[in-house]
Amino acid sequence: MSEVALREALIAHCIKMNASGLNQGTSGNLSVRSGAGMLITPSGVPYEQLQPADIVYMNLDGSYQHRLAASSEWRFHRDIYLARSEVEAVVHAHPIYCTTLAIRHMEIPAVHYMIAAAGGNSIRCAPYFTYGTAELSAAAVTALEGRMACLLANHGMIALGASLAKALWSALEVEVLARLYFNSLLLGGGVVLPDDEIAHVVKKFETYGLKSAQ
Ligand SMILES: [Zn+2]
Repeated sequence: MSEVALREALIAHCIKMNASGLNQGTSGNLSVRSGAGMLITPSGVPYEQLQPADIVYMNLDGSYQHRLAASSEWRFHRDIYLARSEVEAVVHAHPIYCTTLAIRHMEIPAVHYMIAAAGGNSIRCAPYFTYGTAELSAAAVTALEGRMACLLANHGMIALGASLAKALWSALEVEVLARLYFNSLLLGGGVVLPDDEIAHVVKKFETYGLKSAQ
């Protein structure tokens, strides 16, 4: 995809994210890998007002030249691209159920087999650090080890993907898992699937692709 097409796709996915109910206002931010750097949403501009030229191109050393400021969370987007060569897109939002669990510093256990789509038997919760800091970024990268999503304590969630569409799909899927887990807790708790079953499903997803899960 050309850089212009990626800029347009980024805006389209921001609008899609808010229409899905995953995020409110401009509290979320999206990025996509582009060349040797990344394209990221600017800080504080309503998504429906975004023009392709408003999207900030940032080098992976954090430098950029743009009249708008890059998202205040650019640091974990950048650090994820540096740490994870397979990741092409990052979605960050404050969805209600993910964030509710994150307020209690809870991870999502394997209460549904679809957790395997995030790469393992849990979706971890990174400890709390102030937004935009190097500490938060390091904690997020650690919580994401071997995973395509994590929660951020007292803050929200991050989902990764091999494309913008896949990262957004993953974010929506994780919010569904959070909601299911939350509901199971209201009933006294859910039954957690054994580790070997989740490992088996992870393998199935890798072999046959996620289509087999849907
Ligand atoms: Zn945030």
